[in-house]
Amino acid sequence: MYKCSLERMSDKIRTMATFGDAGHGGITRYSLSAEANMARAEFKKRMEAIGAVVECDDVACMYATLEGSDPDAKRIVMGSHCDSVKNGGNYDGILGVMTGMEVLETIAAENIPHKHPITAMIWTNEEGSLYPPAMMVSGIICYDYLPDDLKPNFEYDNMMASTPMDDSPYANFGEALAANPFTGPKENRLSPDKYCAMFEAHLEQGPILEDADNEIGAVQLVMGMFNYAIRMYGFSAHAGTFPMKKRHDALHAMADFLCELHKRYDAYNEEVVAAGEPEFVFTTGEINVHPCIHTVIPDEAYMSLDVRHPNPEVRAKCMEILKELAANDWQQCKCEIKEQWVRDTVYFDERLVGFVEESMEEMGAKWQKILSGAGHDAQFCAYVIPTTMLFARTLKGLSHCEDERVSDEDCTLVATATLNAVLKCDASDEF
Ligand SMILES: [Zn+2]
Repeated sequence: MYKCSLERMSDKIRTMATFGDAGHGGITRYSLSAEANMARAEFKKRMEAIGAVVECDDVACMYATLEGSDPDAKRIVMGSHCDSVKNGGNYDGILGVMTGMEVLETIAAENIPHKHPITAMIWTNEEGSLYPPAMMVSGIICYDYLPDDLKPNFEYDNMMASTPMDDSPYANFGEALAANPFTGPKENRLSPDKYCAMFEAHLEQGPILEDADNEIGAVQLVMGMFNYAIRMYGFSAHAGTFPMKKRHDALHAMADFLCELHKRYDAYNEEVVAAGEPEFVFTTGEINVHPCIHTVIPDEAYMSLDVRHPNPEVRAKCMEILKELAANDWQQCKCEIKEQWVRDTVYFDERLVGFVEESMEEMGAKWQKILSGAGHDAQFCAYVIPTTMLFARTLKGLSHCEDERVSDEDCTLVATATLNAVLKCDASDEF
């Protein structure tokens, strides 16, 4: 069992946090920005310092590789993203990049023998916070292997035309890419010809590990989900002159609908949990009203609904409840629902999950099996090569904010678990 260095990891955490430092504890580091390029330059400098060969592909993903003893073996890669959301924290994404770096640095410092080439990777534009969508570049790289219903979301030309959501010197993602110094030939992309396994370390972004007093999690899968648009249609009239009984108030209808949906879903969730399954999670994060004038009864209201659970039967039942409610009358308004997208559960490679679990056990870490409710590059990569993830304990479960925090010790622990899992993969005949 090998151990990563707390001192070296802490130094990387402090250094990376300066690139895009927003001045109050967090960072804004949009993909392909000057700040992201500083993080990329630091990655290149540190990786070249230990003798790794650094390559870039046409979509600015970076790969730092230490050769192994077997010239025919495929690469084992560890990667995540170095971009953040606006006013994000110092761990989301970059923790997985620093983990890859720390693993290679430990291998180099301790002269650890390995057969396979081992690669630390930066995925470009995971957050999609300047150029949407999220997971854009893993969508591009893994495109040929994605399920057909996901492909339309990641057409190359559309991605290149993605326009910035905030200030940017470039008109679109394609222009930003063309101007970026960290690009190279398309042949350098991650592909199953050259790569045999991928590990992504990430912060949990939830409170489950902390609440269970565990330090680290072996991720089993990324939950399937569905997203629906729900609309209520009534008619507008004057707020002061139109009698209450004659109104078809779309916002009132939507409010009733949302409350009833919560009641029904809460009741069903109790059944799900009683059956030994994890609870499903559901969210309305968007709501819009038309015409949104205080003297006018709304004629239209819109809300989003996001539902996540690994079991397709649970998701199907949630959809059934939604459809049943949509058929009801709500304040004399008509309800219409429309599927926005559906994503199946992505199961991680059992063998890699096993290596991660064995490593955590051997380290004597306090660990548990855990599920991912959020999307990650690993989820698309899992369609291409065997893939898995490790989660680090997240203080108070907070992420995508400046208070996002993982202790230096926990960052080092996730790197150590990754290192030992990678070495088990390296030693296995199956890879
Ligand atoms: Zn992330």
